[in-house]
Amino acid sequence: MNLTDIGANLTHSSFHDDLDAVLERAAAAGVPNIIVTGTTVLESEMARDIAERCGLHATAGVHPHHARDCGPQTIPALRSLAAHPRIVAIGECGLDFNRNYSPHPDQERWFVAQLELGLSLDKPLFLHSRDAHPRFYEILKHHRVKRAVAHCFTGERDELRAYLELDLHIGITGWICDERRGRHLLELVREIPRERLLLETDSPYLTPRDLDPQPKARRNEPAFLPHIARTVARALGRPVEELAAETTRNACRFFGLHEPGPAPSAQRSLAA
Ligand SMILES: [Zn+2]
Repeated sequence: MNLTDIGANLTHSSFHDDLDAVLERAAAAGVPNIIVTGTTVLESEMARDIAERCGLHATAGVHPHHARDCGPQTIPALRSLAAHPRIVAIGECGLDFNRNYSPHPDQERWFVAQLELGLSLDKPLFLHSRDAHPRFYEILKHHRVKRAVAHCFTGERDELRAYLELDLHIGITGWICDERRGRHLLELVREIPRERLLLETDSPYLTPRDLDPQPKARRNEPAFLPHIARTVARALGRPVEELAAETTRNACRFFGLHEPGPAPSAQRSLAA
């Protein structure tokens, strides 16, 4: 399997002590490609450093939770981060009216500022929306955003259709494995055009609830992406290997990554 995890928060403190082991397990599980999510300017710098050191990619942005901490230096800092070859998207940015850690006017202001930055740099956008539909949709439509992924999509049918109408890509996480909250996604995922489906773990959050046994401290990690991919493949009635290759192709095209080469084991067998 050759999967791409388009959203992993590897700068999170729960990964500080064993990141190399986490990445080894991911590669062994068939997840060699990971995009490290940036959620503040500082975390985006850390994400860039991890991407550079470990041969991964990263995003640069400020999560709506942290909108209240943004200031005149934020956009220039993100712009200079975006010039780095391993930074492949602006975000995560968006609106979160679920937790409301930042006031709505701050969230909207810095969401729009990051949209404009992404559009001016011709970079894809990595978008977060929680309980913010339809305001989120109105802002995207107004700014004619197209090259963007609605990361960790957990919404209902009307929300999905609105994003698809805008040409957005859709990121599916282990939320789909949750028999209480994610059941509706098993059906909705069939409405996503094949070329716009992306997979992600959102590690260390959203550990698939049906993983058995549950990992230590319930920490999610990219090595669990095949589990999510199998659930999505079952919902679509398609072979998981095919879905893996297709969603990786989608990720490469969307983020402008190079198509991954053969897995190391395949290279070894070719050489033998
Ligand atoms: Zn998010």
